[in-house]
Amino acid sequence: MKIKIADLEFEPLISADIIEERTRAIGQQLNVDFAGSIPVFVGVLNGSFLFIADLIKQIDIPCEIAFTKLASYYGGTTSKLKIRDDIDLIVDIKGRDVLIIEDIVDTGNTLHYLLDKLKQRNPASIKVCSLLLKPAALTNQIDELKYVGFEIENEFVVGYGLDYQEMGRNLRDIYKKV
Ligand code: 5GP
Repeated sequence: MKIKIADLEFEPLISADIIEERTRAIGQQLNVDFAGSIPVFVGVLNGSFLFIADLIKQIDIPCEIAFTKLASYYGGTTSKLKIRDDIDLIVDIKGRDVLIIEDIVDTGNTLHYLLDKLKQRNPASIKVCSLLLKPAALTNQIDELKYVGFEIENEFVVGYGLDYQEMGRNLRDIYKKV
């Protein structure tokens, strides 16, 4: 069913059931890949808050959870180069295995910025897990992006944490702009 948010119309793209199934599979993979390491999971707010919560519930190895807040979108539907740092990461990641948890990688600019910043703090390793990836929009290759939930077309999406003008984050499914 189509929905309207502000001036735009959206149609279903990925259902809550499919998201849940994929999240469980990624979580199981992380349990294997990070066994014995006590990783620090760094959630990037706001868009990934539901994905972080659901993914973390699948983790059954000892781990720490921390948050940072970045924004590269200012209410529109195209990625802007300007990145704003709203909350810095407080935990000490020196010598730790870090996994960044993102909602969506579009151009990759936000992730590049964050990776550069966190690498300066000398983690033992740093990898990225993103729920969504738009391969056609990616302008920089990101070797650290090891876990991807779904590859999608170059389209604007909302729901499951992702917003349009701060609306739609509460939707259980992911929708794309019509
Ligand atoms: P990038 O820096 O990779 O171009 O953009 C990453 C950020 O832009 C994401 O963390 C997200 O906040 C926002 N973004 C990119 N694509 C979309 C989209 O299709 N929908 C929404 N709601 N946000 C997006």
